[in-house]
Amino acid sequence: MNHNDYLSTLNEPQREAVLHGNGPLMIIAGAGSGKTRVLTYRIARLIETGVDPFRILSLTFTNKASGEMRSRIEGAVGTEARNIWMGTFHSVFAKILRIEARYLGYTSDFSIYDTDDSKSLLRSIIKEYNLDDKVYKANVVFNRISGAKNRLISADDYINNAIIQQDDEAAKMKEIGRLYKTYATRCFQANAMDFDDLLFNTNVLFRDFPDVLYKYQHKFQHVMVDEFQDTNVSQYLITRKLSAVHRNIVVVGDDAQSIYAFRGANIENILNFEKDFPDVRVIKLEQNYRSTSTIVNAANSVIARNKSQLEKHTFTSNEEGSLIDVIKAGSDNEEGRLIATAIFEEKMQKALRNEHFAILYRTNAQSRSFEEALRKLGIKYRIVGGQSFYQRKEIKDLLAYLRFTVNQRDEEAFKRIINLPKRGIGDTTVAKIAVTASENNVAIWDVVANINQYGTGRTIAPIEGFGTLIKSFKILVEEGKDAYEISSHIAKASGILRELYEDKTVEGLSRYENVQELLNGIKEFVDSDETEDKSLSAFLQSVSLLTNADEPDDNNDHDRVTMMTIHSAKGLEFRNVFIVGLEEDLFPSQMMLESRQDLEEERRLFYVAITRAEKKLSFSYAESRYQWGRLKMCEPSRFLLEVEQKYLNVNKMVQSALERDTTPPVTTFARNLVQRKTEAKPAVTAATSHVPSADFVPTDTFDLAEGDKVEHLKFGFGVVTKMDVNGTDRKATVKFDLVGEKTLLLSFAKLRVM
Ligand code: ATP
Ligand code: MG
Repeated sequence: MNHNDYLSTLNEPQREAVLHGNGPLMIIAGAGSGKTRVLTYRIARLIETGVDPFRILSLTFTNKASGEMRSRIEGAVGTEARNIWMGTFHSVFAKILRIEARYLGYTSDFSIYDTDDSKSLLRSIIKEYNLDDKVYKANVVFNRISGAKNRLISADDYINNAIIQQDDEAAKMKEIGRLYKTYATRCFQANAMDFDDLLFNTNVLFRDFPDVLYKYQHKFQHVMVDEFQDTNVSQYLITRKLSAVHRNIVVVGDDAQSIYAFRGANIENILNFEKDFPDVRVIKLEQNYRSTSTIVNAANSVIARNKSQLEKHTFTSNEEGSLIDVIKAGSDNEEGRLIATAIFEEKMQKALRNEHFAILYRTNAQSRSFEEALRKLGIKYRIVGGQSFYQRKEIKDLLAYLRFTVNQRDEEAFKRIINLPKRGIGDTTVAKIAVTASENNVAIWDVVANINQYGTGRTIAPIEGFGTLIKSFKILVEEGKDAYEISSHIAKASGILRELYEDKTVEGLSRYENVQELLNGIKEFVDSDETEDKSLSAFLQSVSLLTNADEPDDNNDHDRVTMMTIHSAKGLEFRNVFIVGLEEDLFPSQMMLESRQDLEEERRLFYVAITRAEKKLSFSYAESRYQWGRLKMCEPSRFLLEVEQKYLNVNKMVQSALERDTTPPVTTFARNLVQRKTEAKPAVTAATSHVPSADFVPTDTFDLAEGDKVEHLKFGFGVVTKMDVNGTDRKATVKFDLVGEKTLLLSFAKLRVM
């Protein structure tokens, strides 16, 4: 396609952005308005007009997004597109750090610790320091350190700055500085970086080595950033520095879709951009091309409730489309079934494929009921994130062997494999090895490899055996064997495959298959024409950044229903979208109810979810679900009430309730379960559940008084029997026709005065 062809598929402001010459450009526009499309075409056009693709840096949010972008550009300009520096911040800067590793005292095959590795390392440090692990939870400590790194605060900065420490000290975590320092030292000694280090160290590299910065500033003639609203300070500084010479920087984003504040993403970047680049050209895109007008308007009605947002207007000339179905289910299992059935029917009626559907949820743990239901109906699905292939235990185990074979300073890999399969080397022995290493001022591997010099006792033999095993693997690397030859040997010689093979349980079998599948993948890697470097270390590098959101499709089989968290759905689009689990405490999440900012972020997340849908959107919620092993009654999410009600089709709820009165045993079982578990209080069951009036909108309950008649979204009609307005939380006790007396917090209650 020549560029005139694609230019003709753009509207005026989009074309302006694609044709924009040199200098900074910013596009802040609503969802589905073509921001990513503009970036894609702009890159294609730059290449067509003679810009060397090696000199274009394009930063996207997921590897999946960059893959899609690259293949579109390839469609327009051919294989030259493969040379663009394109990927996530983490993958692009990991690549640069490998090239420049020596400046920072690392070797270029440094390991990348994933979150599990980091937390496990922290856990051991917390233990070594004899700190109370109820106060110093590895999770919390990890988040504190991560937060500091994202704000470019080093361990020393942290320790020397009383203001930074205040929060942690208030939380009785006085030792965070020391933990941070030790953690950083240990990572460095292990020749390992965690995810945050990839950005943190890039900043250090560019700050302390002006020659290196100079090289990349001149290399990258054009810098582009998609999803700019979610860049954190550290990412922003990197892009700002890199584009300081050519000043050809294009950023696109949508403040209404900023959903990573918890990771340090900073909306102020958008505001700062105008300060840092005062001559920035700003282009607005206002037309949504993705969704029906029902979906666009519903999304606008939700986001309008947020107080803090940039002024922006979005419209669409697309068809009105159908109303948003609201599906009510008795339990989470029923929610799974109702949605699987809806997909099945919609596929039949409209001749759609699986890939047209996406199920979006707030937390990964919700996927189970949908998986089970889809499986029963024989509908193929794919989970993006969560239990992604590379997160499975057996895969991590083998990868740890591979990592340790390449880098014997990788402490986390060492801990994972030293006693796997079991060879009688317990935690105490491992701790002793660590102590011996530090007493003698040598690496752990030095102790293992020469264990006879360091100790005696009954654990010597297995340690020596392990050492010999690793040495034999290292020889394969030195002989220049390829990644597949080495890995398949390691899988067998280590005993991993045998152990799984001998475990005849269903799980054992599937683990065994997973390991086989990993080996298949390595074989594919080695055999691919695109792989120049077939070494084990090159393979490890290629998988080290397969984040949750980037699970490869099995067998190129794309026709699957997609399931994922809303966070990983950003930037994507699907014909039919189900937003599930719309219940209080689940979405909005219980953890996000403490401040207006948090609630607004949660609402932006809802906005992101809604705007993924092209033709058809459905909402669902369950009246009860298991949480931490216990059955819990749920209230519909406030977000359901925030959508302008004329866009909703609540008839589905009636249908669902009716269905449940006549449906088969499982539902009855679920219902009985609800009743049993909640004996003390009358249960809300199908027979007694309330179908709210179509125009149900909670009214201001401030004047509410005893004797008032009210309608509650879930409990139905009732009369106020008592008011309690003295505490900080105003409460009303209401006697409902269906479920009896309940006390409600008025700030939360979905209550309407009749
Ligand atoms: P998000 O904020 O969700 O990332 P976006 O602004 O990046 O959205 P795109 O994904 O680029 O939007 O575009 C949304 C959809 O609209 C895509 O399917 C894209 O191909 C289509 N589209 C964009 N511009 C046009 C246009 N001028 N004509 C036809 N289709 C368009
Ligand atoms: Mg986009």
